[in-house]
Amino acid sequence: MRADIGRKYRAYPRAHQEQILIDWGHDARALWNLALDHRLMVGRKHDGSWVWSAEQCVLLTEIRNDPDPSVNWIRDLPAQSGQQILRRLDRAFVNMANPDHPAGTPVFKHRGDRMGIPFTGQAVQFRKLNRHWADVRFPVLGWLRIRLSRALGGTVRNATIARDGLGWHVSLGVHSGSKPAAPNGGPGCGVDFGVSISAWISTESTGRFMHPTLTVGEEKRLTALEQRKERQLTYAEKHNRGARSNRLARTIASIGALRARQARRRLDFTHKLTTDLSKNHGFVGIEDLRVKNMTASASRSRATADTRNRKQKAGLTRGVLDNAPGERRRQLAYKCPLYGSDLRPVPPQGTSQTCPSCKKRDPRNRLRCGREFACVHCGHIDHADRVASVEIEARARRMGDTVTKSTRSLHPEARDPASGARMRAAPAAAR
Ligand SMILES: [Zn+2]
Repeated sequence: MRADIGRKYRAYPRAHQEQILIDWGHDARALWNLALDHRLMVGRKHDGSWVWSAEQCVLLTEIRNDPDPSVNWIRDLPAQSGQQILRRLDRAFVNMANPDHPAGTPVFKHRGDRMGIPFTGQAVQFRKLNRHWADVRFPVLGWLRIRLSRALGGTVRNATIARDGLGWHVSLGVHSGSKPAAPNGGPGCGVDFGVSISAWISTESTGRFMHPTLTVGEEKRLTALEQRKERQLTYAEKHNRGARSNRLARTIASIGALRARQARRRLDFTHKLTTDLSKNHGFVGIEDLRVKNMTASASRSRATADTRNRKQKAGLTRGVLDNAPGERRRQLAYKCPLYGSDLRPVPPQGTSQTCPSCKKRDPRNRLRCGREFACVHCGHIDHADRVASVEIEARARRMGDTVTKSTRSLHPEARDPASGARMRAAPAAAR
Protein backbone atom coordinates (compact mmCIF):
# COMPACT_ATOMS: atom_id res chain seq x y z
CA MET A 1 0.00 0.00 0.00
CA ARG A 2 2.30 2.73 -1.23
CA ALA A 3 1.23 6.35 -1.42
CA ASP A 4 0.30 7.06 -5.05
CA ILE A 5 -1.11 10.59 -4.82
CA GLY A 6 -0.08 13.66 -2.86
CA ARG A 7 -2.35 16.14 -1.09
CA LYS A 8 -1.25 19.47 0.33
CA TYR A 9 -3.47 21.42 2.71
CA ARG A 10 -3.05 24.74 4.46
CA ALA A 11 -2.69 24.19 8.23
CA TYR A 12 -3.76 26.50 11.04
CA PRO A 13 -1.80 25.57 14.18
CA ARG A 14 -2.77 27.14 17.51
CA ALA A 15 -0.16 29.33 19.22
CA HIS A 16 1.21 26.56 21.45
CA GLN A 17 1.22 24.13 18.51
CA GLU A 18 3.15 26.59 16.38
CA GLN A 19 5.83 26.90 19.07
CA ILE A 20 6.20 23.10 19.16
CA LEU A 21 6.35 22.97 15.36
CA ILE A 22 9.07 25.63 15.17
CA ASP A 23 11.15 23.72 17.74
CA TRP A 24 10.64 20.45 15.86
CA GLY A 25 11.52 22.13 12.57
CA HIS A 26 14.90 23.20 13.93
CA ASP A 27 15.42 19.79 15.58
CA ALA A 28 14.62 18.02 12.31
CA ARG A 29 17.14 20.14 10.44
CA ALA A 30 19.80 19.56 13.10
CA LEU A 31 19.20 15.81 13.02
CA TRP A 32 19.47 15.73 9.22
CA ASN A 33 22.77 17.63 9.40
CA LEU A 34 24.08 15.41 12.20
CA ALA A 35 23.16 12.20 10.36
CA LEU A 36 24.58 13.46 7.05
CA ASP A 37 27.79 14.52 8.80
CA HIS A 38 28.04 11.07 10.38
CA ARG A 39 27.60 9.30 7.03
CA LEU A 40 30.17 11.52 5.31
CA MET A 41 32.67 11.13 8.19
CA VAL A 42 32.40 7.34 8.24
CA GLY A 43 32.47 7.35 4.43
CA ARG A 44 32.20 4.19 2.40
CA LYS A 45 32.78 0.94 4.19
CA HIS A 46 34.97 -1.93 2.90
CA ASP A 47 32.17 -3.24 0.69
CA GLY A 48 31.68 0.25 -0.83
CA SER A 49 28.35 0.89 0.92
CA TRP A 50 27.40 3.90 3.01
CA VAL A 51 26.03 3.88 6.54
CA TRP A 52 22.29 3.45 6.09
CA SER A 53 19.29 4.40 8.21
CA ALA A 54 18.97 0.91 9.76
CA GLU A 55 22.27 1.49 11.52
CA GLN A 56 21.56 5.12 12.37
CA CYS A 57 18.08 4.33 13.76
CA VAL A 58 19.74 2.10 16.36
CA LEU A 59 22.10 4.95 17.26
CA LEU A 60 19.14 7.33 17.44
CA THR A 61 17.38 5.10 19.97
CA GLU A 62 20.58 4.91 22.03
CA ILE A 63 20.92 8.69 22.04
CA ARG A 64 17.26 9.12 22.99
CA ASN A 65 17.80 6.81 26.00
CA ASP A 66 20.90 8.74 27.09
CA PRO A 67 20.03 10.95 30.14
CA ASP A 68 22.61 13.59 29.09
CA PRO A 69 20.72 16.95 28.94
CA SER A 70 22.76 18.11 25.92
CA VAL A 71 20.75 15.73 23.71
CA ASN A 72 17.37 16.90 25.00
CA TRP A 73 16.59 18.32 21.56
CA ILE A 74 16.81 14.87 19.99
CA ARG A 75 14.39 13.53 22.61
CA ASP A 76 11.98 16.42 21.91
CA LEU A 77 11.53 15.37 18.30
CA PRO A 78 9.08 12.43 18.03
CA ALA A 79 10.89 9.13 17.44
CA GLN A 80 8.92 8.38 14.23
CA SER A 81 9.98 11.71 12.76
CA GLY A 82 13.63 11.08 13.58
CA GLN A 83 13.54 7.69 11.90
CA GLN A 84 11.69 9.13 8.92
CA ILE A 85 14.39 11.80 8.49
CA LEU A 86 17.07 9.09 8.44
CA ARG A 87 15.09 7.18 5.78
CA ARG A 88 14.80 10.35 3.69
CA LEU A 89 18.56 10.64 3.87
CA ASP A 90 18.72 7.10 2.42
CA ARG A 91 16.55 8.30 -0.46
CA ALA A 92 18.91 11.25 -1.02
CA PHE A 93 21.89 8.89 -1.27
CA VAL A 94 20.04 6.51 -3.61
CA ASN A 95 19.10 9.44 -5.88
CA MET A 96 22.69 10.67 -5.85
CA ALA A 97 23.89 7.27 -7.10
CA ASN A 98 21.20 7.14 -9.82
CA PRO A 99 22.57 8.65 -13.07
CA ASP A 100 19.03 9.30 -14.38
CA HIS A 101 18.08 11.36 -11.32
CA PRO A 102 18.96 15.05 -11.25
CA ALA A 103 19.87 15.06 -7.54
CA GLY A 104 23.48 15.73 -6.57
CA THR A 105 25.25 15.05 -3.30
CA PRO A 106 22.97 15.50 -0.26
CA VAL A 107 23.52 18.93 1.29
CA PHE A 108 23.38 20.32 4.80
CA LYS A 109 20.26 22.31 5.64
CA HIS A 110 20.48 25.96 6.67
CA ARG A 111 18.53 27.81 9.28
CA GLY A 112 16.59 29.79 6.68
CA ASP A 113 15.63 26.73 4.62
CA ARG A 114 12.10 25.39 4.38
CA MET A 115 11.10 23.67 7.62
CA GLY A 116 9.69 20.15 7.35
CA ILE A 117 8.81 17.51 9.91
CA PRO A 118 8.01 14.07 8.45
CA PHE A 119 5.76 11.41 10.00
CA THR A 120 4.77 7.88 9.07
CA GLY A 121 1.17 7.11 8.19
CA GLN A 122 0.71 5.06 11.37
CA ALA A 123 1.61 8.06 13.52
CA VAL A 124 -1.20 10.28 12.18
CA GLN A 125 -4.99 10.19 12.21
CA PHE A 126 -7.31 12.00 9.82
CA ARG A 127 -10.74 13.34 10.84
CA LYS A 128 -13.07 15.19 8.48
CA LEU A 129 -15.12 17.87 10.25
CA ASN A 130 -17.27 19.15 7.37
CA ARG A 131 -16.97 20.01 3.70
CA HIS A 132 -14.30 22.62 4.29
CA TRP A 133 -12.36 21.62 7.37
CA ALA A 134 -10.57 18.59 8.75
CA ASP A 135 -8.24 17.70 11.63
CA VAL A 136 -5.05 15.69 11.47
CA ARG A 137 -3.74 14.22 14.70
CA PHE A 138 0.02 14.12 15.26
CA PRO A 139 1.94 12.68 18.23
CA VAL A 140 2.41 15.23 21.09
CA LEU A 141 0.94 18.03 18.94
CA GLY A 142 -2.64 16.73 19.04
CA TRP A 143 -5.29 17.64 16.47
CA LEU A 144 -4.09 20.13 13.86
CA ARG A 145 -6.76 22.03 11.91
CA ILE A 146 -6.46 21.99 8.10
CA ARG A 147 -8.44 23.59 5.31
CA LEU A 148 -9.88 20.70 3.29
CA SER A 149 -9.47 22.33 -0.10
CA ARG A 150 -9.75 18.96 -1.83
CA ALA A 151 -11.11 15.55 -0.86
CA LEU A 152 -8.52 13.19 0.59
CA GLY A 153 -9.45 10.27 -1.69
CA GLY A 154 -7.72 7.40 0.10
CA THR A 155 -5.79 6.36 3.20
CA VAL A 156 -2.90 8.39 4.60
CA ARG A 157 0.47 6.64 4.18
CA ASN A 158 2.79 9.45 5.28
CA ALA A 159 2.59 13.07 6.36
CA THR A 160 4.83 16.12 6.49
CA ILE A 161 4.23 19.39 8.28
CA ALA A 162 6.11 22.14 6.49
CA ARG A 163 6.39 25.90 6.56
CA ASP A 164 7.03 28.19 3.60
CA GLY A 165 6.87 31.96 3.25
CA LEU A 166 3.06 31.95 3.46
CA GLY A 167 2.57 29.70 6.47
CA TRP A 168 2.17 26.10 7.57
CA HIS A 169 1.02 23.21 5.40
CA VAL A 170 0.34 19.53 5.82
CA SER A 171 1.38 17.33 2.90
CA LEU A 172 -0.15 13.87 2.91
CA GLY A 173 1.00 10.89 0.85
CA VAL A 174 -2.23 9.04 0.09
CA HIS A 175 -2.88 5.55 -1.18
CA SER A 176 -5.87 5.89 -3.52
CA GLY A 177 -5.60 2.50 -5.24
CA SER A 178 -6.59 4.11 -8.55
CA LYS A 179 -5.88 2.04 -11.65
CA PRO A 180 -4.60 3.50 -14.94
CA ALA A 181 -7.58 4.69 -16.99
CA ALA A 182 -8.54 3.17 -20.34
CA PRO A 183 -7.07 5.05 -23.36
CA ASN A 184 -9.00 8.31 -23.73
CA GLY A 185 -8.99 8.05 -27.54
CA GLY A 186 -7.99 11.70 -28.00
CA PRO A 187 -5.64 12.88 -30.75
CA GLY A 188 -1.91 12.67 -30.01
CA CYS A 189 0.20 15.78 -29.61
CA GLY A 190 3.77 16.94 -29.25
CA VAL A 191 4.76 19.74 -26.90
CA ASP A 192 7.76 22.01 -27.14
CA PHE A 193 8.53 23.68 -23.84
CA GLY A 194 10.30 26.96 -24.38
CA VAL A 195 11.54 29.94 -22.45
CA SER A 196 9.79 32.90 -24.06
CA ILE A 197 6.78 30.82 -25.11
CA SER A 198 6.13 28.42 -22.24
CA ALA A 199 4.60 25.65 -24.32
CA TRP A 200 3.67 25.13 -27.95
CA ILE A 201 1.28 22.24 -28.54
CA SER A 202 1.44 20.74 -32.04
CA THR A 203 -2.36 20.72 -32.45
CA GLU A 204 -2.67 24.47 -31.70
CA SER A 205 -1.90 27.45 -33.90
CA THR A 206 -0.50 29.70 -31.15
CA GLY A 207 1.84 29.09 -28.25
CA ARG A 208 0.83 29.23 -24.61
CA PHE A 209 2.31 31.91 -22.40
CA MET A 210 2.66 31.80 -18.67
CA HIS A 211 1.39 35.01 -17.15
CA PRO A 212 4.06 36.99 -15.29
CA THR A 213 4.33 35.35 -11.88
CA LEU A 214 4.58 38.73 -10.13
CA THR A 215 2.60 41.90 -10.85
CA VAL A 216 4.47 45.10 -11.65
CA GLY A 217 3.83 46.35 -8.11
CA GLU A 218 5.07 43.12 -6.57
CA GLU A 219 8.21 43.22 -8.74
CA LYS A 220 8.94 46.73 -7.45
CA ARG A 221 8.29 45.71 -3.89
CA LEU A 222 10.55 42.68 -4.23
CA THR A 223 13.40 44.83 -5.56
CA ALA A 224 12.95 47.32 -2.71
CA LEU A 225 12.88 44.52 -0.14
CA GLU A 226 16.05 42.95 -1.56
CA GLN A 227 17.80 46.34 -1.33
CA ARG A 228 16.58 46.82 2.22
CA LYS A 229 17.84 43.37 3.16
CA GLU A 230 21.32 44.19 1.81
CA ARG A 231 21.36 47.48 3.73
CA GLN A 232 20.31 45.79 6.96
CA LEU A 233 22.90 43.04 6.51
CA THR A 234 25.65 45.64 5.99
CA TYR A 235 24.48 47.49 9.09
CA ALA A 236 24.52 44.28 11.14
CA GLU A 237 28.10 43.55 10.01
CA LYS A 238 29.35 47.08 10.73
CA HIS A 239 27.59 47.93 13.95
CA ASN A 240 26.22 44.76 15.52
CA ARG A 241 29.00 42.20 14.93
CA GLY A 242 26.74 40.42 12.46
CA ALA A 243 23.88 40.00 14.94
CA ARG A 244 20.62 40.15 12.97
CA SER A 245 17.90 42.57 13.96
CA ASN A 246 14.18 41.81 14.18
CA ARG A 247 13.66 44.24 11.32
CA LEU A 248 15.99 42.18 9.14
CA ALA A 249 14.03 39.05 10.07
CA ARG A 250 10.81 40.79 9.01
CA THR A 251 12.36 41.85 5.68
CA ILE A 252 13.48 38.29 5.00
CA ALA A 253 10.00 36.98 5.88
CA SER A 254 8.39 39.46 3.45
CA ILE A 255 10.72 38.36 0.66
CA GLY A 256 9.91 34.74 1.47
CA ALA A 257 6.17 35.42 1.27
CA LEU A 258 6.50 37.07 -2.16
CA ARG A 259 8.67 34.25 -3.47
CA ALA A 260 6.26 31.64 -2.12
CA ARG A 261 3.36 33.36 -3.86
CA GLN A 262 5.35 33.44 -7.08
CA ALA A 263 6.11 29.72 -6.79
CA ARG A 264 2.44 28.98 -6.22
CA ARG A 265 1.35 30.85 -9.36
CA ARG A 266 3.98 29.04 -11.40
CA LEU A 267 2.75 25.71 -10.05
CA ASP A 268 -0.85 26.65 -10.83
CA PHE A 269 0.01 27.30 -14.48
CA THR A 270 1.96 24.05 -14.70
CA HIS A 271 -0.87 22.01 -13.19
CA LYS A 272 -3.47 23.45 -15.55
CA LEU A 273 -1.22 22.87 -18.54
CA THR A 274 -0.35 19.25 -17.69
CA THR A 275 -3.96 18.38 -16.79
CA ASP A 276 -5.16 19.77 -20.13
CA LEU A 277 -2.44 17.87 -22.01
CA SER A 278 -3.08 14.50 -20.38
CA LYS A 279 -6.88 14.77 -20.32
CA ASN A 280 -7.42 15.73 -23.94
CA HIS A 281 -4.70 13.85 -25.81
CA GLY A 282 -4.20 10.15 -26.58
CA PHE A 283 -0.45 10.56 -26.22
CA VAL A 284 1.82 13.42 -25.21
CA GLY A 285 5.24 13.65 -26.82
CA ILE A 286 7.89 15.69 -25.01
CA GLU A 287 11.61 16.21 -25.48
CA ASP A 288 13.65 13.86 -23.31
CA LEU A 289 15.85 16.60 -21.84
CA ARG A 290 18.19 16.52 -18.92
CA VAL A 291 17.23 19.65 -17.05
CA LYS A 292 20.25 19.36 -14.81
CA ASN A 293 22.62 19.72 -17.77
CA MET A 294 20.72 22.69 -19.19
CA THR A 295 20.86 24.68 -16.00
CA ALA A 296 24.31 23.64 -14.71
CA SER A 297 25.73 26.70 -13.03
CA ALA A 298 26.93 29.20 -15.60
CA SER A 299 29.78 30.37 -13.38
CA ARG A 300 31.20 26.86 -13.13
CA SER A 301 31.10 25.94 -16.81
CA ARG A 302 34.33 26.71 -18.66
CA ALA A 303 32.68 27.13 -22.06
CA THR A 304 31.04 30.34 -20.91
CA ALA A 305 34.16 32.01 -19.63
CA ASP A 306 33.47 35.57 -20.69
CA THR A 307 31.05 37.66 -18.70
CA ARG A 308 28.53 38.34 -21.43
CA ASN A 309 27.96 34.67 -22.10
CA ARG A 310 27.77 33.99 -18.40
CA LYS A 311 25.08 36.61 -18.00
CA GLN A 312 23.16 35.24 -20.96
CA LYS A 313 23.38 31.73 -19.59
CA ALA A 314 22.23 32.91 -16.17
CA GLY A 315 19.23 34.56 -17.84
CA LEU A 316 18.45 31.38 -19.78
CA THR A 317 18.80 29.31 -16.62
CA ARG A 318 16.38 31.57 -14.81
CA GLY A 319 13.94 31.32 -17.73
CA VAL A 320 14.19 27.53 -17.88
CA LEU A 321 13.70 27.18 -14.15
CA ASP A 322 10.81 29.66 -14.15
CA ASN A 323 9.18 27.34 -16.66
CA ALA A 324 9.89 24.30 -14.46
CA PRO A 325 10.52 21.62 -17.14
CA GLY A 326 11.34 18.93 -14.59
CA GLU A 327 8.13 19.61 -12.70
CA ARG A 328 6.09 19.47 -15.92
CA ARG A 329 7.50 16.10 -16.80
CA ARG A 330 6.92 14.81 -13.26
CA GLN A 331 3.29 15.91 -13.41
CA LEU A 332 2.74 14.44 -16.88
CA ALA A 333 4.28 11.15 -15.74
CA TYR A 334 1.60 10.66 -13.07
CA LYS A 335 -1.32 12.41 -14.78
CA CYS A 336 -1.11 10.67 -18.17
CA PRO A 337 -1.98 7.19 -16.78
CA LEU A 338 -4.77 8.72 -14.68
CA TYR A 339 -6.43 10.32 -17.71
CA GLY A 340 -5.84 7.50 -20.19
CA SER A 341 -2.99 9.17 -22.02
CA ASP A 342 0.53 7.98 -22.83
CA LEU A 343 3.65 10.06 -22.11
CA ARG A 344 6.34 9.58 -24.75
CA PRO A 345 9.74 11.25 -24.21
CA VAL A 346 11.48 11.48 -27.59
CA PRO A 347 15.16 12.20 -28.45
CA PRO A 348 15.47 16.00 -28.57
CA GLN A 349 18.20 16.32 -31.25
CA GLY A 350 17.33 18.76 -34.04
CA THR A 351 13.59 18.91 -33.46
CA SER A 352 13.44 22.58 -34.46
CA GLN A 353 15.50 21.97 -37.64
CA THR A 354 13.18 19.49 -39.33
CA CYS A 355 10.73 20.99 -41.82
CA PRO A 356 7.10 20.03 -41.15
CA SER A 357 6.31 20.46 -44.83
CA CYS A 358 9.06 18.55 -46.71
CA LYS A 359 10.40 16.59 -43.67
CA LYS A 360 14.05 17.46 -44.45
CA ARG A 361 16.34 18.19 -41.52
CA ASP A 362 18.89 20.95 -42.05
CA PRO A 363 20.63 23.23 -39.51
CA ARG A 364 20.52 26.03 -42.11
CA ASN A 365 16.73 26.16 -41.65
CA ARG A 366 17.36 28.15 -38.49
CA LEU A 367 19.77 30.73 -39.90
CA ARG A 368 17.18 33.53 -39.70
CA CYS A 369 17.17 35.59 -36.55
CA GLY A 370 15.37 34.61 -33.38
CA ARG A 371 12.76 31.88 -33.32
CA GLU A 372 11.97 32.04 -37.03
CA PHE A 373 12.16 28.87 -39.10
CA ALA A 374 12.71 29.05 -42.88
CA CYS A 375 13.19 25.85 -44.85
CA VAL A 376 16.07 26.09 -47.36
CA HIS A 377 14.60 23.26 -49.43
CA CYS A 378 10.92 24.14 -49.88
CA GLY A 379 10.73 27.69 -48.50
CA HIS A 380 8.28 26.85 -45.68
CA ILE A 381 8.26 29.61 -43.04
CA ASP A 382 7.04 29.02 -39.51
CA HIS A 383 7.70 29.62 -35.82
CA ALA A 384 10.55 27.41 -34.60
CA ASP A 385 8.62 26.26 -31.51
CA ARG A 386 5.68 25.10 -33.64
CA VAL A 387 8.07 23.30 -35.99
CA ALA A 388 9.61 21.57 -32.99
CA SER A 389 6.24 20.55 -31.54
CA VAL A 390 5.16 19.02 -34.88
CA GLU A 391 8.42 17.07 -35.12
CA ILE A 392 8.07 15.91 -31.49
CA GLU A 393 4.57 14.66 -32.27
CA ALA A 394 5.85 12.79 -35.37
CA ARG A 395 8.64 11.14 -33.36
CA ALA A 396 6.23 10.22 -30.55
CA ARG A 397 3.83 8.69 -33.08
CA ARG A 398 6.62 6.61 -34.65
CA MET A 399 7.71 5.55 -31.16
CA GLY A 400 4.19 4.40 -30.36
CA ASP A 401 3.96 2.39 -33.61
CA THR A 402 7.30 0.65 -33.04
CA VAL A 403 6.48 -0.16 -29.45
CA THR A 404 2.99 -1.41 -30.17
CA LYS A 405 4.39 -3.76 -32.82
CA SER A 406 7.25 -5.01 -30.66
CA THR A 407 5.16 -5.48 -27.50
CA ARG A 408 2.50 -7.27 -29.52
CA SER A 409 5.02 -9.75 -30.90
CA LEU A 410 6.81 -10.25 -27.57
CA HIS A 411 3.92 -10.13 -25.12
CA PRO A 412 0.59 -10.57 -26.90
CA GLU A 413 -1.24 -9.81 -23.68
CA ALA A 414 0.65 -6.59 -22.89
CA ARG A 415 -1.50 -4.17 -24.88
CA ASP A 416 -2.50 -1.72 -22.19
CA PRO A 417 -1.09 1.59 -23.44
CA ALA A 418 -0.72 2.91 -19.89
CA SER A 419 1.38 -0.04 -18.72
CA GLY A 420 4.95 0.53 -17.61
CA ALA A 421 6.28 -2.07 -20.07
CA ARG A 422 5.45 0.08 -23.01
CA MET A 423 7.15 3.14 -21.59
CA ARG A 424 10.29 1.22 -20.74
CA ALA A 425 10.52 -0.47 -24.13
CA ALA A 426 10.03 2.79 -25.98
CA PRO A 427 13.46 4.49 -25.91
CA ALA A 428 15.31 1.31 -26.94
CA ALA A 429 12.99 0.81 -29.90
CA ALA A 430 13.39 4.40 -31.04
CA ARG A 431 17.18 4.36 -31.07
ZN1 LIG B 1 10.77 22.18 -46.23
